[in-house]
Amino acid sequence: MITQTRMNIFLIACAVILLNFGASSAFAASDLIGKLIEEKVIPREKPATAAKAPKKAMRLANIPTNVPAKKLFGAKKKAANLRPGAIGYYTRGCLAGGVEVPKTGPAWQAMRLSRNRNWGHPKLVALVKRLAVEAKKHDGYSGLLVGDLSQPRGGPMTSGHRSHQMGLDADVWLTPMPKHVMTWAEREKKKPLLMTVDRKTLNRKNWTEAHARLLKRAASYSQVSRIFVHPPIKKEMCDWARRKGFKNRSWLGKIRAYYGHNYHFHIRIKCPKGSAGCKDQKAAPRKDDCAENLAYWMSSKPWGGGIKKKKKKVAKKKTKKRKKRAAKHMTIKGLPKACRTVLVAN
Ligand SMILES: [Zn+2]
Repeated sequence: MITQTRMNIFLIACAVILLNFGASSAFAASDLIGKLIEEKVIPREKPATAAKAPKKAMRLANIPTNVPAKKLFGAKKKAANLRPGAIGYYTRGCLAGGVEVPKTGPAWQAMRLSRNRNWGHPKLVALVKRLAVEAKKHDGYSGLLVGDLSQPRGGPMTSGHRSHQMGLDADVWLTPMPKHVMTWAEREKKKPLLMTVDRKTLNRKNWTEAHARLLKRAASYSQVSRIFVHPPIKKEMCDWARRKGFKNRSWLGKIRAYYGHNYHFHIRIKCPKGSAGCKDQKAAPRKDDCAENLAYWMSSKPWGGGIKKKKKKVAKKKTKKRKKRAAKHMTIKGLPKACRTVLVAN
């Protein structure tokens, strides 16, 4: 009885205290809870929906602007899990929703797997597979050795290639595929066959008519914008087309002479439909392009020879400027804005 009375007195006292200090103590309690959450003593309550958006905004805001973009994109091991899209331009862009060329297929094998550059826009990957299968079936070509496409999210590369940034460029070796499935190590070490002896001469030991049929097929696809080859290969394609007497030679205009393509050719496709932020290169000439332009590439002019001293000086200055610009190392600021979303996705 006595105990009960004492307890009642205690409860009433508590109530009086609470009534007097209720407002301020509630305030202090919420302050205290906030502090405990901040210090991770108690977990923060997770709102079911609002959590993702601020996280993404934070990731976007946290992209370093003083690091070269090639380092940021080069570090990504997987594609951006977004709707497929080629963003920007071939030499300044990135890739959303990229897919891989399977390492081994019925008519192709991917090379240099350690580079992780067998990623492209789904349309490019489909085209490479199609070319491989059709060339094997119809052109007497044993299959494709597939070189670099893009990094998983495109972007500037850590080494080599100025283009290949949007997932629309693919390098294919001119070495025919061996019959066996190569090991990882073989794909790393295998040396490609050279198709030229020097910048003017085709290497007839390695070049076959099946190569010509393969290039014609690739250039004939409507999605293909250009094919780059070393100048003597372009010359051979022109001579071959003449010998064969092809009436339609518009495909030949897409085969362009360019430096550095003596063991592989480079396929560039047009911006796929639905890639809103993708800029196409000017269309290749509709003619076969076997006259002046080829003569220029077969001359010593593009290789730095045959120009007067004055012109040489100008060229040197230009190279210096270009090098300086390149040395600046482009950061994320130099890429289209949408590439930031690509970089921080998943
Ligand atoms: Zn290339």
